[in-house]
Amino acid sequence: MDPKKRSSDKASQEMLKHTDETGLETAWDRFEQQEPQCGFGKLGVCCRICTMGPCRIDPFGDGPQAGICGATADTIAARNLVRMIAGGAAAHSDHGRDVAHTFKMAAGSDSCDYMVKDELKLREVAARYDIKIEGRETKEIAGDLADAVMAEFGKQEGTLVSAAAYPPPARQKVWEKLGVTPRSIDREIVEIMHRTHIGVGSDYKNLIKQGLRACLADGWGGSLIATELS
Ligand code: SF4
Repeated sequence: MDPKKRSSDKASQEMLKHTDETGLETAWDRFEQQEPQCGFGKLGVCCRICTMGPCRIDPFGDGPQAGICGATADTIAARNLVRMIAGGAAAHSDHGRDVAHTFKMAAGSDSCDYMVKDELKLREVAARYDIKIEGRETKEIAGDLADAVMAEFGKQEGTLVSAAAYPPPARQKVWEKLGVTPRSIDREIVEIMHRTHIGVGSDYKNLIKQGLRACLADGWGGSLIATELS
């Protein structure tokens, strides 16, 4: 196929011309082989969360309007969407956890390949987590910061420190009003898996709300940690 019909990006067009000439398979080829894609899947109305399924809803209204457990199209689509959010938030945030572990090892070692190169940034980030800076060695501050960010993952009470330390106050007020201020990074992901299990959450608005909490825990928690400590 003409590369210009496959992508509007000039670099991608050039790459696609090259892969066509050399016979290399790309995601574009595989996408075309998948067409026509499953209509139920595209609408998000197919569910295989439990072994009673797979269940699917007839989008035209003639066939089944609920899965075996009673889940409607709204419930199934919301469950599918928020489980995708859980997967993405887990991938970003677990990367942040690994960065935090490496940071802790670097902070406590004189022979680690990694080191704190930007001391000013270290102090700026530590201040956001309310860590004492004055009169302290870099290693001490870095050790406390590593502990503080790692505690954000499994926090059991309250909300994320970073969710109060980084976003503009007006944005935090919106989250408070909507009840979506993230509580801890791992918790928001686990709660998605809990609420979307058969027989648990069925209100699609409530499910989406939990998805929003996980998005915020990812963006202002796990991903932020990965960026700030890198
Ligand atoms: S959770 Fe409900 S809709 Fe999904 S597969 Fe099980 S019975 Fe079907």
